[in-house]
Amino acid sequence: MDGNNDVQAELDSVEAELELVELQITELLQKQAELTSRKDALLQQLEEACDTAQPSSSSSSSSSLKSSGGHSAMSKQEMQLYDGTDFPWSQAVEQHLKDLFHLSTFRPLQLRAINLTLSGKDLFLVMPTGRGKSLCYQLPAVCSEGFTLVVTPLVSLMEDQIMSLKSVDVSAVMLNASSSKEHAKMVLAGMTDVKAPFKLVYVTPEKIAKSKLLMSRLEKAYNANLLNRITVDEVHCCSQWGHDFRPDYKLLGILKRQFPKVPLIGLTATATSNVLKDCEKILCVPQPITLTASFDRTNLYYEVRIKESDNDAIISNIASLIKNRYKDQSGVVYVFSQKDAESVSSELQKRDIVAYPYHGNMDPGAKSRVHRKWTSNKIRVIVATVAFGMGIDKPDVRFVIHHTISKSIENYYQESGRAGRDGHPADCIVYFGFSDIFRISTMVVMENVGQQKLLKMVDYCQNVDRCRRSLMAVHFDEVWDDEGCNQMCDTCRHAKDHRTADITQHARQVVQILELAASMNEKLTPLKLVEAWMGKGPAKRRKMIQTTTLSRLQAEAVIVRLLLQGYLREDFSFTPYTTYFYMKLGHKAALLKNQSHTLSMEMGTQSGYASVKAASGQGKAKEGKRSVQSTGDAPVSKKTKTDLP
Ligand code: ADP
Ligand code: MG
Ligand code: ZN
Repeated sequence: MDGNNDVQAELDSVEAELELVELQITELLQKQAELTSRKDALLQQLEEACDTAQPSSSSSSSSSLKSSGGHSAMSKQEMQLYDGTDFPWSQAVEQHLKDLFHLSTFRPLQLRAINLTLSGKDLFLVMPTGRGKSLCYQLPAVCSEGFTLVVTPLVSLMEDQIMSLKSVDVSAVMLNASSSKEHAKMVLAGMTDVKAPFKLVYVTPEKIAKSKLLMSRLEKAYNANLLNRITVDEVHCCSQWGHDFRPDYKLLGILKRQFPKVPLIGLTATATSNVLKDCEKILCVPQPITLTASFDRTNLYYEVRIKESDNDAIISNIASLIKNRYKDQSGVVYVFSQKDAESVSSELQKRDIVAYPYHGNMDPGAKSRVHRKWTSNKIRVIVATVAFGMGIDKPDVRFVIHHTISKSIENYYQESGRAGRDGHPADCIVYFGFSDIFRISTMVVMENVGQQKLLKMVDYCQNVDRCRRSLMAVHFDEVWDDEGCNQMCDTCRHAKDHRTADITQHARQVVQILELAASMNEKLTPLKLVEAWMGKGPAKRRKMIQTTTLSRLQAEAVIVRLLLQGYLREDFSFTPYTTYFYMKLGHKAALLKNQSHTLSMEMGTQSGYASVKAASGQGKAKEGKRSVQSTGDAPVSKKTKTDLP
């Protein structure tokens, strides 16, 4: 018995230590990301300084071309040669496209990618999901001698691919942990068979990492010139900066090291240049050509609304949008949890809207019923958790409203991107609330870079002065030209509804509160921090701090800004039942001790943000217009004006 207690005690202590280590790792990763992005920004500055010496070219094309290190390995003209149809393989490519794949034309960048890989170039292809990346290695596979090796992270993805290839009579096989001995033997033998019984071999990364038999077969095939191409699907899985890091992908560098003459093609829907650079190193491809299809969806209007704490007001606001602006049209309202899905849909129903919930906990029958009825317009609005996503191909979704922010910009892009697939105008509106940030934080706390990605999303939402499309473009590493938005986001439409506010004194007050709390051995949740600052804390504390005259929304906005800029940071603490979030001082807080240090932020004057005195002190900003697109919806409630002390 005693022995058991000892073990339990040690287990507890090991677990506690592990938690600590994980926290430290998270901190270091965050630090690393900050430094990397600083480094990139500096590199870019240098590069821009060089570029201004050269005449600029118009950047209105629907795709952009980049190569590693930001220096084009190929000029634009050279690159355009790869859109041609006079290569030795061009006839075969054309014929297989029609006869085998039953497709009439290529989509943007497909032919270029195919010609590049058939020319033996290493290639990274970044294209949003559903645009047709698979064709870019499947078609070359059938136009080449031997076979293509395809590394795919999931067996289910493999099975999908093999099924669809079977339906067009392209022979493909797979090797994974559950392959039988006979099957594996057949596949391995086929790899060195000059008659090439299959054109594609799908494998999981752990097969490459663990099966010496496979590696030795690949080597034989390589020496016999039968390994024609290496495809790495979901290539961002190599990097822990990608949203889906898989340790076995780290070992795939062995492929290029062993088979240097074989061209590699890496595919992904979401990779920033940081991630790609990392993948480049991991896969040992020194100078791949990167083709990036544009992420910009020109028919989508992007808007952010400030979410007040009054839940009823938010629902009424959403309901009014749906009943007026989107009268008789269909859409999705994304919510944070199953509970929210139930409650928001029933609140909308009370307001005479045919809305139904959709979440992971419903039985499959109910889910597909709701989905079907929505597709056939019998249900107008689905109130869903992110479980609703796969297989949404309804073209006429006119609005995607986020009742709660997404956990990353990648997720937001995907979720909001379900609007307007038919190319007609559609709206993407997100309700941005202070406490939601921390609800999501708790959810992503275990993910390596979860916090960082969330803060990027928060930054997108808090932004009041830069074009939202440009923020997304930058996030996805696209070249952005300022004409590109065409007033299709709220900040472009209401360009003047913001003012610069000096928040240095506010920042000092917040820091003082946290220091005081720390000295009393007390931790403050974000909510407690706001309340303390607003003078709603215990009387004892109120006497010791300077309370703010800012409105609640302004106070929250300042705290979010401080968090985004590293003056504050999140501090979490785990119990067996829940994760607690506290605010503590960030690495920049010390800067505020320096009397000459100043800090300002752009504050919106619309939807709830009251006007604040401009930093220069010349008068007050005027009450802004609220963002209304077309037909009027109920007015967003206005906060009273507050002057800064
Ligand atoms: P991704 O891997 O980029 O998410 P897929 O390769 O799975 O996308 O392709 C998505 C869909 O687009 C498939 O149904 C595919 O048949 C289709 N598709 C691909 N290329 C073309 C094309 N040139 N013309 C029409 N449909 C295409
Ligand atoms: Mg794919
Ligand atoms: Zn814009």
